[in-house]
Amino acid sequence: MNRMQSLMRGVGRVTPALTRTVHSGTRMKHKERKLTPEELFAREDRYGAHNYHPLPVALERGEGVHLWDVEGRRYFDFLSAYSAVNQGHCHPKIISALTAQASRLTLTSRAFYNDQLGAYEQYITGLFGYDKVLPMNTGVEGGETACKLARKWAYSVKGVPKNEAKIIFAMGNFWGRTLAAISSSTDPSSSEGFGPFMPGFQLVPYNDITALEKALQDPHVAAFMVEPIQGEAGVVVPDAGYLTKVRELCTKHNVLFIADEVQTGLARTGRRLAVDHEDVRPDVVVLGKALSGGVYPVSAVLCDDEVMLTIKPGEHGSTYGGNPLACRVAIAALEVLEDEGLADNAERMGQILRAELNKLPREIVSGVRGKGLLNAIIINETKDYDAWRVCLRLRDNGLLAKPTHGDIIRLAPPLVINEDEIRECVDIISRTVMSF
Ligand code: PLP
Repeated sequence: MNRMQSLMRGVGRVTPALTRTVHSGTRMKHKERKLTPEELFAREDRYGAHNYHPLPVALERGEGVHLWDVEGRRYFDFLSAYSAVNQGHCHPKIISALTAQASRLTLTSRAFYNDQLGAYEQYITGLFGYDKVLPMNTGVEGGETACKLARKWAYSVKGVPKNEAKIIFAMGNFWGRTLAAISSSTDPSSSEGFGPFMPGFQLVPYNDITALEKALQDPHVAAFMVEPIQGEAGVVVPDAGYLTKVRELCTKHNVLFIADEVQTGLARTGRRLAVDHEDVRPDVVVLGKALSGGVYPVSAVLCDDEVMLTIKPGEHGSTYGGNPLACRVAIAALEVLEDEGLADNAERMGQILRAELNKLPREIVSGVRGKGLLNAIIINETKDYDAWRVCLRLRDNGLLAKPTHGDIIRLAPPLVINEDEIRECVDIISRTVMSF
């Protein structure tokens, strides 16, 4: 089965005529007639790189916890753009910050000062309790920045010999798609065919304190970078006490504890940061995704002066990082999380969701796990059903979710979801699962 055929599974076939219309269509034609979902799938397939395998649904509008497809069907969004839309789609306060700033000043580059960056820096460092922030755009750039800071700190503060610094990662990690990020990946689909890889990276099993302690004996270790819950690996929740032990060991061995909170942070797991579940303070925190509520790529690295000031002018940066539009949007996005108590809501709604999902038959759903509204169910796959087919049927029943790593379906709605809605969604999930 080629990619197009598998893409179209469950949505009917694209007729040659429709495909031709799309392929030969001019811009004018596209404006004249609204394209069908099949035509939209075919156009992306024809003109776009094949680096994703989307669920066949073509969306055109979002509001709060809902998305609408081009034929007007409404869905509950249970992916939230991989946790970027924690505040709900098109949150009015965030959109209003975006549009107000967009018509005033969008980008100056960091060659000059602007009137928004300092306000944002003051706000975010105050909120999270760190001396300084380094603004970037995507999550992976945040991770890269954290790694560069760790190396710089290792040479200039810890005294690691030049080019000998090591960074330890946990197996199953995911922090993006750049060459550095895939150099630490244990997922062959991320790394296969893209070598050679970044030196100075080392792996230990996730949730394994003994292995970490052993690796930290090496005096050249600069940092341990870890997700408090591994999102892309399938919402893998470590044992209670793991993060506390990580903190203790990093302190003992003078190694930086870098928390990759790009997916778990910003209220997703029922706390402002996922590390707050254990009241631990990492040396470096990486944020992204929901830092803009899903309207714009904004990421950030937070740490104290001892680490941050090791990077000097001209040694790191990004044309768009810290631009006025991003700063204004990020303040609004953070204020929404705080003002609307979204961490508390995620905690409460997550408890209801997991309690209800745990009632599903174990022959089909063999496991339920997660914290707050970052959850997953494990599908006990047979020849009659698998996670992909469950997701297709969830879509038909009005709920959008996506398999992550084969048999695991992540369930992560926007954090603005209320109890009636979560119960309606549980009903959709139960009905869907029982229909197999
Ligand atoms: N870190 C974590 C934990 C992630 O889950 C992701 C993306 O899924 C990233 C980093 C990379 O973020 P981005 O896709 O914005 O580069």
